[in-house]
Amino acid sequence: MCPHLPPCPPSHAYDREAARVVAAHPEQGWSLLCNGVVLFDDTGELLPDGEVIAPHRPVGAPPWPAGAPRR
Ligand SMILES: [Zn+2]
Repeated sequence: MCPHLPPCPPSHAYDREAARVVAAHPEQGWSLLCNGVVLFDDTGELLPDGEVIAPHRPVGAPPWPAGAPRR
């Protein structure tokens, strides 16, 4: 199924995002990976079995909670 060497990680693997991109749609904000995972620009994911992974962007979070007063 996967023609790549080394093989891409399967969709249920922790490093699933390391799979090769087989169809990129940057204008729509998503990419299809070789293992069937749809990876969105906000780091959210849609797995082949329909499971949704919430965005988990590691950077860019403000140093204070949203809405908290800034002193
Ligand atoms: Zn592959």
